Amino acid sequence: MTHEALDDRHGVIWLDGEFVPWSDARLHVLTHGLHYGGGVFEGERVYDGHIFKLAEHTRRLHESARELGFRIPFSCTDLDEATLELVRRQGIGNGYVRPVAWRGSEQISVSSAGTSVHVAIATWEWPHVFSASAKEHGIRLSTSRWRRPAPDTAPVRAKAASLYNICTLARDAADEAGFDDALLLDYRGYVAEATGANLFLVAGDELHTPTADCFLAGITRQTVLDLARHLGIPVVERHILPGELSTFDECFLTGTAYEVQPVRAIDDHEFQVGKTTTVLREAYTRLVHSPAPERGRASA
Ligand code: PMP
Repeated sequence: MTHEALDDRHGVIWLDGEFVPWSDARLHVLTHGLHYGGGVFEGERVYDGHIFKLAEHTRRLHESARELGFRIPFSCTDLDEATLELVRRQGIGNGYVRPVAWRGSEQISVSSAGTSVHVAIATWEWPHVFSASAKEHGIRLSTSRWRRPAPDTAPVRAKAASLYNICTLARDAADEAGFDDALLLDYRGYVAEATGANLFLVAGDELHTPTADCFLAGITRQTVLDLARHLGIPVVERHILPGELSTFDECFLTGTAYEVQPVRAIDDHEFQVGKTTTVLREAYTRLVHSPAPERGRASA
């Protein structure tokens, strides 16, 4: 598959406090973050000119940097304002926002002492990850041989670029085998998450999701848990073994980019796109399209 290059587009990217022409937003090959994985990022979504949960994403970017031992040199308020202005300037109605922060090029030792911290924000129109048919009828996952690491092995609470090595290896293997995405187990063998989204399972009228003790507890995961509780759907957060998957009737993924994405199969086990998945997907769609005070308005 060929992709349109991301480094040569029209418009501007916010870089270290300035709006710079899109193709000028570059960094040096001797960047610490590139060599040693010292980078954190976010994925945000714009709906009808609003950024959904902007404040939560910006806060998580700051917290991810702190987990990696560096401090972002712009306040959350500054970053929120820059994001809103960028989305307005780029004229994004429905799209994606990618903030990223990384250690600069002051030294090539593994030690990060003396490195500066840089931040960039880019946005583009990007309405859906999967096809309309996959969105409706579900995607197929294969269980990966790669696992989410233990909290004393990697900074598992951070949305850290370095952790995405595992996701890319898993995703590429799944693609090659003809699946849409991979399911990763954790270091203990429990069911964890997909390569860019959290996992939910439905048994009867109960919603189950793995305890997020070694992977990202996504903002969408929390939103869906809140919606479920509000709708009176019983929620169970617990450790789930892969052998239990065949006991569930429905399965879906949640993430900023994936939204509420039905799963129709994990390996050989098939699920239905049932009532609970549909109700939660509809509730989520209504929520992201309804203006809320905590959401930034970019088109004002
Ligand atoms: N897990 C991983 C590995 C992810 O990349 C994402 C996407 N950010 C998620 C979970 C879901 O997080 P969120 O709902 O905050 O987008």
